[in-house]
Amino acid sequence: MESILLLLHTESDGSLARPALEAFAAALSLGAELTVGLAGSTVQPAADRIAGAGAAVKRILAVAGPAFAEPRYATDAAAAEALARASGAPIVLAPSTSRWSRALPGVAFRLGGRVDTHATAIAEAGGAPAITRWFYRQRMEAVLTRSLRPWVVLLDSGCVPAWDGPTGQAVVESVALAPPATRTSVTGTRSPESGQQTIRPDARLLFVAGAGWTKKQADGAVHSADAEKLILDFLRLTQASLGGSKSLVDLSGEGEAVLRFMTHMNQIGQTGATPRHPKGLSTCCHGEEPHAVGWRFIGERRAINLDPNCGWARGKADVLYVADAFEVMAHLNRLLQ
Ligand SMILES: Cc1cc2nc3c(=O)[nH]c(=O)nc-3n(C[C@H](O)[C@H](O)[C@H](O)COP(=O)(O)OP(=O)(O)OC[C@H]3O[C@@H](n4cnc5c(N)ncnc54)[C@H](O)[C@@H]3O)c2cc1C
Repeated sequence: MESILLLLHTESDGSLARPALEAFAAALSLGAELTVGLAGSTVQPAADRIAGAGAAVKRILAVAGPAFAEPRYATDAAAAEALARASGAPIVLAPSTSRWSRALPGVAFRLGGRVDTHATAIAEAGGAPAITRWFYRQRMEAVLTRSLRPWVVLLDSGCVPAWDGPTGQAVVESVALAPPATRTSVTGTRSPESGQQTIRPDARLLFVAGAGWTKKQADGAVHSADAEKLILDFLRLTQASLGGSKSLVDLSGEGEAVLRFMTHMNQIGQTGATPRHPKGLSTCCHGEEPHAVGWRFIGERRAINLDPNCGWARGKADVLYVADAFEVMAHLNRLLQ
């Protein structure tokens, strides 16, 4: 098996986040000669975190320093390129973090190689790696190999369990690299308060709201204020991640007085996201194919719909509750409280 470089960037405290430890587990599973390349402001905690893998890791290389702390194309690409050249490995793996997803296609070009993104599995096939990825919004799965080297592969998160071995004391080889000129300086970070955050990739449950929440109900009236309260109470009580159908997020985008916390970032489906959660609960959503295709990686699917003939009933959900979601969610929230 050809030798591998695994590129990992560290967090601000020098640690490794879950996607990095998942990619490490995937790289180790190949049984090839493995070099780990670390980039970040400090790297020793990350190196010590993976030291328990022992001789399975041949070398740990690092580009470290304050210039490499913040996600920025120029510095991330320079660090990755220097690590790739220092390792000389024909296969370069990395987790699909936003940081590497942005920088590594350009790095593959600089190295004269090729890049493949969104790999969901990697395995050895005849002495070389073969990767698995999905095409056409998760409708077709393919296994690919490439003869061109270096081959850069970005591994999606949530596909293998994170490496959980013991920590140790690692020896890190520093790769000298003068920080490249940059035009971007990071002055701070602004993010929503954690209570307002509704997209939670690590949540055990995906809760999806469809346009039905905003439609006229049996009494002939719309009840969007009730819908908002029921959904927000449920999210607060369960810490589930919130998804939406296209119809619902489009309505919210038009400034209608419905579900104000819903944006296009929440959209699940063909033109939205394909998240990975162990379970999913769809409410007031018809379960049409362009929506349900975004549920490809949800482990167990349940739906609540008034219509016994909705899309979910046609093999797309494991369990369909033919019921009024307003009543079911109010009851669920009472039980959760
Ligand atoms: C090219 C293309 C790309 C698309 N991409 C996406 C995509 O990425 N994501 C996506 O979601 N859609 C996508 N769509 C749109 C998709 O086809 C559907 O139009 C959309 O998903 C419908 O949203 P909905 O199920 O929320 O709304 P509706 O179809 O209006 O369904 C509302 C449902 O709520 C139910 N309901 C109403 N009241 C209650 C109640 N009290 N209790 C329980 N159930 C109730 C109704 O029975 C109904 O089934 C795409 C379409 C195209 C053509």
